[in-house]
Amino acid sequence: MSSELAVLKETVSGCTKCALHKGRTQAVFGSGSGTADVMFVGEAPGFHEDQQGVPFVGAAGKLLDTLLGGIGLTRADVFVANVLKCRPPGNRDPQPEEIQSCEGHLFRQIELIQPRLVCTLGNFATKLLSGKHLGITRVHGQEQDVVLGGRPVTLYPIYHPAAALYTRSMLAVLEADFARIPEILARMNAAEVRPPAPAEPFAAPQASEHPVQLGLF
Ligand code: URA
Repeated sequence: MSSELAVLKETVSGCTKCALHKGRTQAVFGSGSGTADVMFVGEAPGFHEDQQGVPFVGAAGKLLDTLLGGIGLTRADVFVANVLKCRPPGNRDPQPEEIQSCEGHLFRQIELIQPRLVCTLGNFATKLLSGKHLGITRVHGQEQDVVLGGRPVTLYPIYHPAAALYTRSMLAVLEADFARIPEILARMNAAEVRPPAPAEPFAAPQASEHPVQLGLF
């Protein structure tokens, strides 16, 4: 972890910006590679995450691991974080003022990690990072170009893994959306490593024709 990310982790662990700090065992900063190309952003820590200080360690986390494994990735290859760093009581939905208090931590994480692809898991992360009100049912599986942490990033909304725990038919949708991640990354890589433009036919000038230009070549 870079020293700046370590400083941010320290800041988050002492954060008292909203009331959620009063009920937490610990803040859940996020885990994985601090230089990951791909980041996953969930909603908020649940009971087990609050206990262990690591995101997605409960049932939804097990499914996230399986989905990652299905596309040849492990937690160590990506960075996993949440919109809220502290557990809401009874796992209720994040409140607007909690999101507002906490969003600076997530934006700073994105700024420091510099992922190229940010996969938002569920409605809260999708709405916050897209800056739009469109819900996950409308936008899942559709990449969006956004600017996050001062850099262009591809945002890829996916259903939250917990959705598949409640609604079994959702699993196939989740798997299909995950299956497109390698293809999106490959396309981004191909766009970055464009073959050089074909060289102009180059005829070396004759010394006698261009005597003063010779030093330029
Ligand atoms: N659900 C989330 O959104 N985040 C976690 O860390 C665990 C469950």
